[in-house]
Amino acid sequence: LMFSVYGFVIGALPVGFLNLFIVSINVVYLVRMYREKDDFRIMDLSASARAQSMLDEIYVTMRLLDEWIRQNPERDPRFDRGFNRFIEVFRTRNGGVADIRLITDAGGLYYFPSYSTEPLASVEDREYFRALPGLKDSEIFFGEPIKGRITQKWSIPIAYRLSRNDRGYRGFLVMIEFDSFDRKFADLTTGTDYAVLLIRKDRLVLARTPYNPNVVGSKLDFRIEDSRGFGVVEILSTERVKRAASFNGLLGYPLYVMVSRDFAKIRQGWARAAALQSVIGLCFLAIFVVLNRRLVSLLRKNAEIQTKLEIAARFDELTGMKNRRYFFERALEEMARARRIPCPMVLLIADIDFFKIVNDSWGHSAGDLVLRDIAREIESCVRETDVSGRIGGEEFAVLLVDTDIVGGWGLAERIRESAREVVFQSWQGSISVGVAEWTGDDEPIEQLMRRADMALYRAKEFGRNRVEIDRLRPNDAFPFLFP
Ligand code: GH3
Ligand code: MG
Ligand code: MG
Repeated sequence: LMFSVYGFVIGALPVGFLNLFIVSINVVYLVRMYREKDDFRIMDLSASARAQSMLDEIYVTMRLLDEWIRQNPERDPRFDRGFNRFIEVFRTRNGGVADIRLITDAGGLYYFPSYSTEPLASVEDREYFRALPGLKDSEIFFGEPIKGRITQKWSIPIAYRLSRNDRGYRGFLVMIEFDSFDRKFADLTTGTDYAVLLIRKDRLVLARTPYNPNVVGSKLDFRIEDSRGFGVVEILSTERVKRAASFNGLLGYPLYVMVSRDFAKIRQGWARAAALQSVIGLCFLAIFVVLNRRLVSLLRKNAEIQTKLEIAARFDELTGMKNRRYFFERALEEMARARRIPCPMVLLIADIDFFKIVNDSWGHSAGDLVLRDIAREIESCVRETDVSGRIGGEEFAVLLVDTDIVGGWGLAERIRESAREVVFQSWQGSISVGVAEWTGDDEPIEQLMRRADMALYRAKEFGRNRVEIDRLRPNDAFPFLFP
């Protein structure tokens, strides 16, 4: 039973292991995904905070300068020392990321400070200039990335609508150079494969760190509905590169900060983790299988030893017959059965004649051979249902089931004759047999034994090589033998 239960467990476990495997790989993916999402959020929020503070600083500065112009109608900001000192502070404070310029109604562009009343360039044709009339006072507009007319550097233009004035000033222009923008976010992206993007509400990419000319200036292929989100997007409508991305809307500006990573690479990382998990799992499975085999062989060996011990405890090593103890055990069982049915039973006890002489003349091992031969003869004479055993050194007993004294006597004679045939060839030996019939019901086995023993004693007394019957009830049982 233990074996079959264990076998079932062994059989079922690999299947269970396999299931566990698949589940655990999925769990790895899930855990990785959540961790990935967290990483994205952290990146996203820190990049957003930076962009937000940068833009806030720019916006507040422009509001202040706008206020200054409104309150100082007699002073020209382009040449005013106080005004320009303020701008100088702003410039150094933000590390050269942003610079402020003035735009007139006619599209003239002036730097601070100016050295001439003539504009440095005309920006009439610029997208941000054309957007200015549509803006409310102190509203700002983020323009498409452009190459500066004077600086020749790629920048993001931010246009600010000045409050109405009668001096021909329409707005401020702040140019954020890509280089400066990169510097601002480089520490977030170096050593990782993240990218930080600044995106207009219409999905136009204004800037990207690290810089990618294929992405900047193009529109992303994904929908923004909420102020923040996470998902897998196709970054480029031309290249169809899939990237996992997290975006976050900035407060007060029509802008998003997005953090993205190559989705294939992320998947690769997940697959690697899952593969590692599988290898570890397989190792465990292998160890389990090996240990199992060990255990099974150990259990099998144990069972073999158990059976051997049981056989050794019940059977005689020399002849293979039942030993004395087991013979009596079986005999008692048969007796109990005979009592229930009921049926007659006969007990024979056989003893080898002058066996000492065999041992003395040819040695103990020759005696052993004789014992074995006689045991075999006895076994071949009795039926399978009969109980036979070696109950002493050279004494054998047979309990004949469902047999009366006539049958018992006949069998005893047969045993005596065949035993004599066998042992006569090597040594002119013989056996004597005592026979007793069970009186039934209350006769204990000890008394039956004693009567058979007494009959045997008489057989020896009367000259050996003969069968003697217990004379307890001689005449009614077998009248012609005992006249
Ligand atoms: P008897 O005809 O009166 O039975 O004479 P006997 O020599 O057979 O006398 P007894 O039955 O007293 O002797 C038993 C002898 O059987 C004693 C012992 O040396 C021998 N014997 C008992 N067990 C074994 C055994 O396992 N192997 C051998 N070789 N001899 C045994
Ligand atoms: Mg004896
Ligand atoms: Mg003897």
